[in-house]
Amino acid sequence: MKLNKMTISITLALFLSVICGILLQDHTDWANNISFLGTIYVNLIKMIMLPLVFTSLVLGVSSMDNLKKLGKIGVSAIAIFMMTTAVAVVIGLCLSLVFQPGIGIELTAESYEINEFPSVIDTIVGIVPSNPFESFVNGNMLQVIFFSIILGIGIVVAKDKGEPLRKILDSIFEIMSIVTRGVMYLTPVGIVGLMVPAVANNGVKVLLPLLKLVLVFYAATVIHICIVYFGMLKVGCKMSVKKFLNGMLQAQVIAFTTCSSAAALPVSLKCIQENLKISKEVSSFVLPLGSTVNMDGNALYQGIVALFIAQAYGVDLTISSMLMVILTGTLASIGASGVPGAGMIVLSMVLLSVGLPVDGIALVAGIDRILDMGRTLVNVTGDATTACMVERMVNKNI
Ligand code: ASP
Repeated sequence: MKLNKMTISITLALFLSVICGILLQDHTDWANNISFLGTIYVNLIKMIMLPLVFTSLVLGVSSMDNLKKLGKIGVSAIAIFMMTTAVAVVIGLCLSLVFQPGIGIELTAESYEINEFPSVIDTIVGIVPSNPFESFVNGNMLQVIFFSIILGIGIVVAKDKGEPLRKILDSIFEIMSIVTRGVMYLTPVGIVGLMVPAVANNGVKVLLPLLKLVLVFYAATVIHICIVYFGMLKVGCKMSVKKFLNGMLQAQVIAFTTCSSAAALPVSLKCIQENLKISKEVSSFVLPLGSTVNMDGNALYQGIVALFIAQAYGVDLTISSMLMVILTGTLASIGASGVPGAGMIVLSMVLLSVGLPVDGIALVAGIDRILDMGRTLVNVTGDATTACMVERMVNKNI
């Protein structure tokens, strides 16, 4: 199937799913009956994810002519991740300040349970796996990244003796790329299975009371994408926005419908390497890392929702509290993982840091799916934009 045909089928599937979902709002059980199609589709892409990321990253590292380059890629990527994430929290805060979506909200009496967060030291220690096989089994992406880099460096140092393993991994990578291509043909079916139940269960009735919040959040995503990402692409990478969007569309739709950066990863890797011609060494490092630590959509959400909850409870946040929201919002986005609903879980960290009631999360829990779709779309777009920037900075290829 050509990219054009695929794009048309994906757009059509998205459009029809929204219509069917709206029509089935009073028959959610019918809509839920087809959710198994979405689950099978998500499982298929998750199935490809680890072998693809692992082989792609080992090959990327082992093909580098010097290890200084690896350091340069890492430092540039992390610097861009941090800056764009902090900007996202600020955009979220500003929009929430101007449009005040929380004013006039009726508070619910439900309560929300807080999750425990690991300390910074525990997080750093947790990146180094004591048993790499366990990391694969548990799908711990940061540990898999760490092990892949070590293995890639080992292959470079071992020279001829490392070559047979490199060839085997190259063969696995090629096979997994073919499997990814096959799974992508099923994207329209997956979209129907994911979107029809999502729209039917989160329809107008659920959305209406919080419509202003949803609108402010989506306005923030558009502003962040247009100003920050398109600005980086045009000014920093000299790449046309149209080329970027055409190349990444499938990954973006998968992010939007699955609400998981991790699930979108195999397709993101394929799109960026094949359509945008970003090198394996950069993309296979920046995208998996970004899918776990770079969450600008999540950061936008933290900024908007923290202020929304403050407004709903009639709390006036001081400037220093807002600075605290920027700091903890950035950290919470780094700490969240690329799975559905992760942003809402780490929100409690931001609320606690400025003394806002954690029960306020119950106010937004009902519409989290709708917000998560936008968050994940921004997260995946941010990772791809960063990869393009790093490619330009390190390899000067684009
Ligand atoms: N679902 C998002 C992702 O996978 C994380 C979040 O909830 O913000 O990127």
